[in-house]
Amino acid sequence: MMLRLILMALIGWVIWRLLAPAKTPKMKPPPATPGVENVLACAHCGVFVPEREMLTDADGRRYCCAEHKKLGGGA
Ligand SMILES: [Zn+2]
Repeated sequence: MMLRLILMALIGWVIWRLLAPAKTPKMKPPPATPGVENVLACAHCGVFVPEREMLTDADGRRYCCAEHKKLGGGA
């Protein structure tokens, strides 16, 4: 009697486990927090800009904008 109840509960749990992921939306990766991202200095003017917003030239130097990339590093 008791075993049957446990078995029913177990089957129910297995079914729930199989169906649950389909219903619940997938966990989204946490959005990039501005605080932890790399901030680098522009090779031309030295202003600090988040790395993902920077432009990189052929030599691997980072610039804050296209204008400074064109002008190049060092003054
Ligand atoms: Zn710059």
